[in-house]
Amino acid sequence: MVELRWQRWILACAMAVAGPVAAAPSWAELAYQPVALGWSAREVDDASAGSTRALVERARAQGLEGCRRYCAQLQRVFARLVPLARLQTERARHLPWTLTVLRSADVDAMALPGGRLLISEVFLREQHLDDAMLAFVLAHEMSHSILEHERQTLQYARQLLPRNVRRSVADMYVEIDYNYTLLKSLEPVMQAGEFEADELGLLLASAAGYAPARQLRFIEAAAAQPEGAAPLVRTHPAARERLARLRERLPLALRIFAAARAAKTASATSAHRAARS
Ligand SMILES: [Zn+2]
Repeated sequence: MVELRWQRWILACAMAVAGPVAAAPSWAELAYQPVALGWSAREVDDASAGSTRALVERARAQGLEGCRRYCAQLQRVFARLVPLARLQTERARHLPWTLTVLRSADVDAMALPGGRLLISEVFLREQHLDDAMLAFVLAHEMSHSILEHERQTLQYARQLLPRNVRRSVADMYVEIDYNYTLLKSLEPVMQAGEFEADELGLLLASAAGYAPARQLRFIEAAAAQPEGAAPLVRTHPAARERLARLRERLPLALRIFAAARAAKTASATSAHRAARS
């Protein structure tokens, strides 16, 4: 969603995961296809990509593009999440899911509407992310793309502006950048998107086989920190609130995790039998 212009979903590619899409078992169908949104998904993606290209180019100029220390971990976790992301909506099935890795402190983890993710190894090192925590972070970002939060927020913003003016996506970002009242009005929409991405992220990563309680250690660590001064616009809910909502979803996440493990065991058993016959 619109995490302010300089923080929008970002981009580019270093790791791509392709492959056939399997039919979704019912426990893996976790999301919905948003409807009645303005502009095309492509228009929103293109407008977002332009403003973040500079971030990657700056990292490249500084020799900070690409993974060094966490390549295997990132590849392993991302590859497990992508098939689940593709099962969620018809649009997500066809997104070019890719992950770009930087070693810059300019960014933590972000996603473009079109399924391209960005993460920094500085963030991984500082947060001490193991596989389950990283799965939650990546699945949260993927959920923003699946649920088209950027497009949803832009649609909401348009409804707050005079109706007799035609506006492109780029026009909307100009409004958001310079119209504080509009940006402030988007706060609850942006925060709702964060709660939604947390929830779908937790469930997606659980379906991919990551233990729910272990995933939550990422938010638990954030919730244990002092909150600090309130920003002018709070794009994200407080970590304590996010943790409380996530804990409400733990029973569901545990059932999905158990179903995923049972399906994996059944598949391994039948493969073993086939190999012996
Ligand atoms: Zn988010």
